[in-house]
Amino acid sequence: MISVKNLSKYYGTVQALDRITFNVGNGEILGLLGPNGAGKSTTMRILTCYLPPTSGAININGMDILENPVKIKRLMGYLPEFAPLYTDMLVYDYLKFVATIRDLQPDKKERRITEMVEICGLKDVIHRPFRELSRGFKQRVGIAHALMSDPEILILDEPTSGLDPNQIMEIRSIIREIGKKKTIIFSTHILSEAEATCDRIVIIDRGKIVADGTSESIKASALGRHLFQMSLLDASFSDVKGYLGRIDGVDEIRRVAADSPDELKVQFICSNDNRKEIYSHVRKKDWFLIEFTKEKGSLESIFRELTVSDQSAVKGKNRTPTGRKP
Ligand code: ATP
Repeated sequence: MISVKNLSKYYGTVQALDRITFNVGNGEILGLLGPNGAGKSTTMRILTCYLPPTSGAININGMDILENPVKIKRLMGYLPEFAPLYTDMLVYDYLKFVATIRDLQPDKKERRITEMVEICGLKDVIHRPFRELSRGFKQRVGIAHALMSDPEILILDEPTSGLDPNQIMEIRSIIREIGKKKTIIFSTHILSEAEATCDRIVIIDRGKIVADGTSESIKASALGRHLFQMSLLDASFSDVKGYLGRIDGVDEIRRVAADSPDELKVQFICSNDNRKEIYSHVRKKDWFLIEFTKEKGSLESIFRELTVSDQSAVKGKNRTPTGRKP
């Protein structure tokens, strides 16, 4: 069991984490989801004892990370975002080297390397040097490295970053397979990946946790609000924002990418289904309406809602940590 309590981290004056709190149960696969700069890598580096926290506490299997860093490191396998691999080494030699530094008994080394080759699908590249490997295979070797000592907990920092869709599917299935026996925390900004692979998701944005739950529970709580999308011609965003933003129940209006330069596409986040009133206001203004739809509340739109910058919002600046208005 991993317990993170009020964890904060400053790099000089930059606050990377702001009192984050979450737990991870034994055998759980937790997805740490967030945009660039959210604080995912910082959280992982602190969890793996590579960085000290500024304040807060982390307890892993009953041990405090500041008091027992060596014992805790032994419990963990860590794949950093940019795994430092020796480019001229053959994959086999590298795995043997990892087995040695991980203190595996000589009689166990070969067996464990064979297991890693099997689990991570390295058979075809085992006698090739790293520099010849695709990014997908480099990530597999990184995962084999993290798994070598058979750790209880696996921390994977963006394991699918930079991979093509096939490679993503392959790494995802490796993670799911490993997750049957181990506790895994992995970070990603690919929502479908978190949704498909994780038991639970923690969404982090600008150093704060904005949602924590299963993808279903996050969706359900966000669906307490209504998301509509509207496309207009002959309308400016500032007019739309000023005029429709005053309607009761319209919490936020955001501009989203449109298909053509003449089109204005906006997203409404509303606390009730006030489409009738929005539509009647649009008619009064004589704006040319080309589309008005209700969004289904995919995890993707919820993620956008929770993590997108507030610059284009008309209201709703005082968010609670769950991303909902107080
Ligand atoms: P990414 O997905 O881009 O890797 P992330 O969610 O992992 O982002 P972090 O790398 O943890 O985010 O960064 C969180 C914040 O801390 C950012 O504002 C980042 O610029 C800052 N930061 C990270 N490392 C350092 C450092 N060594 N010195 C100063 N600031 C840092």
